[in-house]
Amino acid sequence: MSHFPWWYVTLVAMTTRRGRAGEFPPPPEPLAVPVFDSHTHLDITVQEGEGAAVGELIAAAAKVGVDRLVQVGVDVPSSRWSADLAARDERVLATVAVHPNEAPRLPDLDEALREIEALAELPRVRGIGETGLDTFRTGAEGRAPQEESFRAHIAIAKRHGKALIIHDRDAHADVLRVLDEEGAPEAVILHCFSGDAEFAAESVRRGYLLSFAGTVTFGNARGLREAAAITPPEQMLVETDAPYLTPTPYRGRPNASYLIPLTMRVLAETTGTDLDELCAAISATGERVLGPWR
Ligand SMILES: [Zn+2]
Repeated sequence: MSHFPWWYVTLVAMTTRRGRAGEFPPPPEPLAVPVFDSHTHLDITVQEGEGAAVGELIAAAAKVGVDRLVQVGVDVPSSRWSADLAARDERVLATVAVHPNEAPRLPDLDEALREIEALAELPRVRGIGETGLDTFRTGAEGRAPQEESFRAHIAIAKRHGKALIIHDRDAHADVLRVLDEEGAPEAVILHCFSGDAEFAAESVRRGYLLSFAGTVTFGNARGLREAAAITPPEQMLVETDAPYLTPTPYRGRPNASYLIPLTMRVLAETTGTDLDELCAAISATGERVLGPWR
């Protein structure tokens, strides 16, 4: 593999060492205009959150034009870790939350929410999430605490003027209902958008941002591409949700921010937008709703 750049060789060595099922895919052709990854889990990607490996993943992304990213918390420890990373790395902003699948399992949700609220005050914590509703992995018995947690996160986002990052799995109508009942914060990001064109149109009408993950590249995701096609560039974001949702043709292998160009190319093609212009629009939207990285 000597024709691959040094950082890719390092990444492969990293995954091989850890005995993962697959190694990281090869690097795609770099983007000419930089874009950012609106949703990634570096701590989960490297499993132990080792500093060196995290640094390599961030550097690998920068090499292909993904020069900024948003590190997303899913519980109190990962939110704290995300805030710490953002505080010491200018390429990273953080979001903090208790994930909707975590909330019903916590012995003391209120205490966790107090810790999330304390982290929300930090200057490089720019979003509250991922929060939301998930009726796929949480059964009927967990719905009430999940919704209670979602409402609390909406309130925290509004109190601190931060963006709200929503996880919505099989719960489109209920997500909109709770946002209507509580009153949405100024910036709402529908992470890993999973609706059809109709739900996309409704979200666009409300001024929400739709963040598209590698799922939009999947062969069977025609509905998702129809949703992307009607999303205006200024309401569109792109993300990995790494280490999950690796774009085509590398499904099943680990994902990381350096694979964003694969998803960006599909989004540009789907929307009939020039790739460079779409990257510039997404970057501008990110700086507008999350604030500047540097
Ligand atoms: Zn996520």
